[in-house]
Amino acid sequence: MSRSVDYNFSCPCGEKFSSPIYDYVNVAKDPSLQYTVLAGLLNVSTCPSCGRRIAHSQPFIYSDPAHNLLAFVHPRGDVPEDARLLILDRLQTTYDTIVGDDGIDSNGTANHTLSPEDSGQIANTPPLQVIFGLDQLNEVINAVLSQDERMGRLALNTFSRDEAERGQLLLIARKLAREMQCQVEVEDLPDEYTVWVFGARRRIGAIMRELAPRE
Ligand SMILES: [Zn+2]
Repeated sequence: MSRSVDYNFSCPCGEKFSSPIYDYVNVAKDPSLQYTVLAGLLNVSTCPSCGRRIAHSQPFIYSDPAHNLLAFVHPRGDVPEDARLLILDRLQTTYDTIVGDDGIDSNGTANHTLSPEDSGQIANTPPLQVIFGLDQLNEVINAVLSQDERMGRLALNTFSRDEAERGQLLLIARKLAREMQCQVEVEDLPDEYTVWVFGARRRIGAIMRELAPRE
């Protein structure tokens, strides 16, 4: 399982809401979180009332055992040198905690070779990469994903200002996304309402084929 804590947010609009903030992401257990990360929406909370986004700069562990990828991620790429050293220091503790519990998938993973000095619980754990900045994380993830596994998106869009019509569009998008194990993200502008459906390219491709007009 991935690990998150519910944080309480107070939006400038007055709304109070809670939203999960992750410090451990295991995409073997929660495949959709991979696309949340690639979409830049991990630990970004959306106010249910006004739609404002609040980013929470929480460092996290990203684990993708199938691709032999394990990374400590600090979401900001512009952390100064002395702060980086402090973070690396604290990292050791976090890493030990996670490797020590059930966090790391210890089922045999494909394409994994063990070095002779590997032993005990840590044997199946890939080397830990340290990553500063979400752009760099995206590069690392995309480097291990096949074309089909990379993120794809499609937009459902209306210029209607009618709330009911916008609501209907969102409903359809959510249904499609759920059936295809994708996610939705809303861009709500006065003149234009867009629902992005995002997920693995092959799934987005399947939705597009489904939506294409029949001959
Ligand atoms: Zn708000």
